[in-house]
Amino acid sequence: MKRFLTYRWTLLFVGMVTLLTLTGMNVYNLLSLEKTTVEASRDGQRTKVLEFSSSVFNRFSAAVRVFWPLNVEALHEEWQLNGAMPDDFTEALAQMAADSMYSAIYFAPASFTSCAENGEMYKFDPVTRGMVRADDPPKMVCDGIGLIRTRVNMLLDEYRFNTKRLFDANRTMNVALINHRGHGIVGYVSYVVNQEYLRDTFLPQELSVHFGSKDQSGMSVWVYDWLRGEVIATNVPGVEYDRRSITIGQRFQDILDTWTVAATFDETTILAASKASLIRNLTAMGVVVFLLILSIVFIFILAQKERELAVRQAGFLANVTHELKTPIAVMQAAGENLSDGRVSDPAKLKTYGMHIHTEAVRLRKMVDKLLDVAKTESGQLILKPVPVDVSEWVMATLHAHSSLLTEAGIKAQVDLSPELPRVLADPDSLEPILGNLIENAVKYRGTGDFLAIRAHQNGRVVVIEVEDQGVGIPPNAVKHVFDKFYRVEDSLTARTKGHGLGLSIVKTLTVLNGGTVGVKSVVGKGSTFHISLPIATSNPTDHA
Ligand code: ADP
Repeated sequence: MKRFLTYRWTLLFVGMVTLLTLTGMNVYNLLSLEKTTVEASRDGQRTKVLEFSSSVFNRFSAAVRVFWPLNVEALHEEWQLNGAMPDDFTEALAQMAADSMYSAIYFAPASFTSCAENGEMYKFDPVTRGMVRADDPPKMVCDGIGLIRTRVNMLLDEYRFNTKRLFDANRTMNVALINHRGHGIVGYVSYVVNQEYLRDTFLPQELSVHFGSKDQSGMSVWVYDWLRGEVIATNVPGVEYDRRSITIGQRFQDILDTWTVAATFDETTILAASKASLIRNLTAMGVVVFLLILSIVFIFILAQKERELAVRQAGFLANVTHELKTPIAVMQAAGENLSDGRVSDPAKLKTYGMHIHTEAVRLRKMVDKLLDVAKTESGQLILKPVPVDVSEWVMATLHAHSSLLTEAGIKAQVDLSPELPRVLADPDSLEPILGNLIENAVKYRGTGDFLAIRAHQNGRVVVIEVEDQGVGIPPNAVKHVFDKFYRVEDSLTARTKGHGLGLSIVKTLTVLNGGTVGVKSVVGKGSTFHISLPIATSNPTDHA
């Protein structure tokens, strides 16, 4: 038995650990799947920001790319000779002048030093396609060309192409035209950026192409001037720019150098769906695991109970065998002596006769009890409820047990409320109920000699109490005393004859009669058992 108990605990432990491990693994997998989905979605969003900034870059690159196939040396020579540009350069500038991105195009030959020194500067006229001398160029053009002049002159050898572009913030894009074979810088072109077009048309258009609305891309994007702290363009016009919420900040490469693209990742429908499915999965798993744990624990408790019952049944069998054998042996011996005719003394004859009688009574009681149990167990006990007078029932039972009480030196106190209503019960089944309670009060009386039987009405029931001042029942045993085969483990019980069936019979019969049982007990002070039975109304079939 002990070995099986250890097995059970081990199996319970292994079952729990397996269940928890599997659950843990599943939760981990679900969470990492969710993380991967989030990461994948973030990667896609980062790529979108990059695509946006390179798309803006490409738009500005057109104004530089037009010079790449042209011969810068030819420009130098033509300018030196005629003070004009070769046709292909004129064509390129005309093309760019038609681009709404630029409001004007200026050209300064290599000899230009600065506006302050009255350097030579020309403005491209798209109508005549000629260069017009600009005596008073805008300051930002002077600044732009001054900037690129200084930069390119210093690092001339480092550039491999025939152009070098340099933005002056967002105001002008300046291009140095370089002739690597000998003449160095040939001149500077300055494109004045059309601010209205850039801010109000181009950037909003690009933002809408790449990100759409916030709901479509799951992103809020701002083009932000960090130098001035102002928003240039955004796909979420109503939403205020908040630096703390920004998840990615991306500078434009080589262009618009005081501006950044700032974005926050909002939840896309895919992410929301994935999160919802994560929550659904976790909840479903939680419920299933909870139910599994519950059933494992339930099965374990059931197994424990089965085991306890098996132990008690084994004890019962040994006990009953012993108890059946003893009276039979006594009767056999007495019977033998009598039948031999060896005993002739009337006193002895009487003793043998009494032995046989006592043992036969004991045997009958035990067989009765076993039959009661067997009948209730197999459901063969058919009750025929009729209105029963409680005082008659109490008095009859006491009378039946009078010799037992007298032997024990007990005088029962009976206290029955006057005019007790009748209860609806099967009279045959009532006898064992009260009988067992009285027998127990005698068996477990200890040194006391007190027994009280009371009955009173309580609403729709009559409550019958059987009180003793005996050994009492330990608190942890109280909830078991009505179980089949259960006996309290103490020395008095061990010495007292019994099989742990009496109270189980009391409970089964009372419940079958539509009543309830209970007990209040204090160790060393005594116990009070109480049973409630439904009162019989004027029409007994109500209760049938
Ligand atoms: P048993 O045949 O052992 O008396 P019962 O089912 O009648 O079986 O009672 C179960 C156990 O409850 C008893 O073994 C005893 O330990 C305890 N018990 C029952 N009645 C009393 C009582 N009046 N006082 C103290 N203990 C009691």
